[in-house]
Amino acid sequence: MDGLYLFEGFFLITEVKNFKNKILLNEANQLIQLQEEGSEEVFDNPLTQVELQKEQLIQLLDKHGYPTIPIETLVVFTHKKVHLTFNHPDLITSQQLPARLKRITQKYPTKLLQRNELYHLGRKLISLHEERGSAFINPNDKIFPKIKRGVFCNRCKPMIMRRIYGSWECPKCKKRNSLAHLAALEDFYYLFGHTITNRQARWFLCMDSVYTPSRLLQSLGMKRSGITKNARYDLSSLFKR
Ligand SMILES: [Zn+2]
Repeated sequence: MDGLYLFEGFFLITEVKNFKNKILLNEANQLIQLQEEGSEEVFDNPLTQVELQKEQLIQLLDKHGYPTIPIETLVVFTHKKVHLTFNHPDLITSQQLPARLKRITQKYPTKLLQRNELYHLGRKLISLHEERGSAFINPNDKIFPKIKRGVFCNRCKPMIMRRIYGSWECPKCKKRNSLAHLAALEDFYYLFGHTITNRQARWFLCMDSVYTPSRLLQSLGMKRSGITKNARYDLSSLFKR
């Protein structure tokens, strides 16, 4: 499972594939990747895998007393040079994702869970599925077009605060808050898991500077693994379940 997204009316399980070249589906429902030199490689259909994960999630939700929530599955091919030779609603390129997500969202107009319930469920699922922290590797608006990023002003939400002279300032009410990034990092924690890199922080907090996110993360005294560009910070020390 590369990603699990909790929406108010449905959940979405995604699997990201970085295959390039021509991809075929054969009659045995296997995925065939044609190599440039003409050879081919055979893979299990990734949809089979996400369907299995869907079944496991249904059982898990049931076991913990959650209502029945529709679960959609998508396999997203992200390589620029992938050539899908089939038309399948659940096996798509990242260019097709925004339109596909829109259609799925329209399919489930009924809100089954409130936002705070989704947070609680997210918390629970993270605690039941520790390795999820490593799933979110490449922040990208094409993959996550629905996510509202940025450091919000408490008063003017969803107005995004700007980083000015070591603090955050709301362009509308001019209120300043030097710790406003904590709430955004908490959102990140529940959405994507318990570790964050500089690059992810820069993306999620909508910061222009390359250096400020890393200074910001370092200043919070989190456990860190890896160095420089690859450093991952452990948010769970800040946001205990
Ligand atoms: Zn404001």
